[in-house]
Amino acid sequence: MCEGENYIFVLHTIFNHPLKLLKSVITNCKPINLKKLTLLFLILAVCSCKQTSSHKDKLLFANTTFTPNRPPLNRNLHKYIKYKSDTLALTHVTIFDGKGNAAKHDQTLIIINGHFYEMGSTSEIKIPSHARVLNAKGKTIIPGIVGVHNHLHIPRFPFVGETAAKLYLASGVTTIQTCGAASPEQEVLLAEQIEKGNAIGPNIITSGPYFTGINGNPNLIIPKNEQHIRDTIQYWAAKGVRWFKAYRNVSPEDLQIIIDEAHQQNAKVTGHLCSVTFEEATKMGIDGIEHGLNSTSDFRKNKTPGICNGSREYIDELEINSAEVKKLQQLMIDQQAFLTSTLAIYEASIPERAFADERSLEAMSPYLVSQYQERRKNYEHQSSPDSIRLKRLKRIMEFEYQFYKMGGTLTAGVDAGRHVLPGYGDQRNFELLREAGFTKQEALKIMTSNGAQVLDNPDIGTIEKGKKADFVILEGSLENSIRNIEYVFKDGYGYDPQQILSTVKDKFGLE
Ligand SMILES: [Zn+2]
Repeated sequence: MCEGENYIFVLHTIFNHPLKLLKSVITNCKPINLKKLTLLFLILAVCSCKQTSSHKDKLLFANTTFTPNRPPLNRNLHKYIKYKSDTLALTHVTIFDGKGNAAKHDQTLIIINGHFYEMGSTSEIKIPSHARVLNAKGKTIIPGIVGVHNHLHIPRFPFVGETAAKLYLASGVTTIQTCGAASPEQEVLLAEQIEKGNAIGPNIITSGPYFTGINGNPNLIIPKNEQHIRDTIQYWAAKGVRWFKAYRNVSPEDLQIIIDEAHQQNAKVTGHLCSVTFEEATKMGIDGIEHGLNSTSDFRKNKTPGICNGSREYIDELEINSAEVKKLQQLMIDQQAFLTSTLAIYEASIPERAFADERSLEAMSPYLVSQYQERRKNYEHQSSPDSIRLKRLKRIMEFEYQFYKMGGTLTAGVDAGRHVLPGYGDQRNFELLREAGFTKQEALKIMTSNGAQVLDNPDIGTIEKGKKADFVILEGSLENSIRNIEYVFKDGYGYDPQQILSTVKDKFGLE
């Protein structure tokens, strides 16, 4: 304990165990150096004052605990950043923790090196002297959205990743699971670029290519045999892919192999099902099922096992709270299969509700805008005042609400397409979940911590001490709007959404 001490260790000991240090110096250093001892007493005298604030003591070590684990953001991207303070204090703010709890008001939140360090009532939390303080009175904080059906492609556009990533981040989505890739190679590259700080966007959990079956889309993988499936999954898993998606025409035999191989590779499987029922897939051990009631084939009449056919009228006739539906949902709950809600994209095909908002039209490419206008024109000619699709939307909502209330893990994602854009559509999902009957905190939980749960990432999705500070500051209350995003924090940086959005005008659909 005499020479060549690790500075941090000495400081730690001085702050926490001054007597121990003194004793150690006295017993170990022979002969006692009087000068050193005097100096030590002086340091101890100063420290004893500091000891009165155990809070500052903790902060010193918080800085050494929460070291940023990411490379710094490329300097060219700093134009998008508003805050990059190592220690930030947000005062007088309303917080939704993402765990389903009601909001807490007049809170202070201390963030150090991209982690939540301390939070509580503003009157009780001490602010470190070196912190950058932001008075957030009238603002609301929610966890960054964790979207689990958040593609980097849209129909007929195999990769829109660069613009999509910006739209996601600017809309408060800080982590996405892409739930099927049309260009898996490009997804993996973009995910790496973001991780290395060379591009901005949410953290991306990549997917492999879709698996389908005979009569399925030829652009997807139609397995030739068992080996073909296993080779494909091993190939993409080796590239870091952790999710695989089975699509409508997948055969039951192939799905079982996909699940088996993916699990062997520590990856997960979700399905947009049709040929295989929810019950069959759940019993096979699938991890998640997409879209809910709309893609349930369990209740189709005249369905051939293993084939995507049969009537869809069940959606209109089925009693959602019947024993047979509850039995299916209970099976999913027991087997821990999650369900992903994608209400915004469903709404986009309902003539009475398929309207693009101003901001979406601004970001869409001229071609996508013209497509939208054409669809609108056709909708005007459709004579269906009591739209079947509108009624179906309500039933899809009912199915999801019941599943959640029974204890199921409901997650959400945008499934971008039509005029439903990455990020904007996630925000729309929040509004539609509210319409489905969920409280603000329930809808948030579905979109944040439930997503984190199925991604096996407990470090994100909630606002809690010690967790990663990926969060969103909303201007005003959440009741007012989830769209009024002031700043988005991710990996230690506070992004200005307006700066990001100014670079995507007319761009979505050009890549
Ligand atoms: Zn999709």
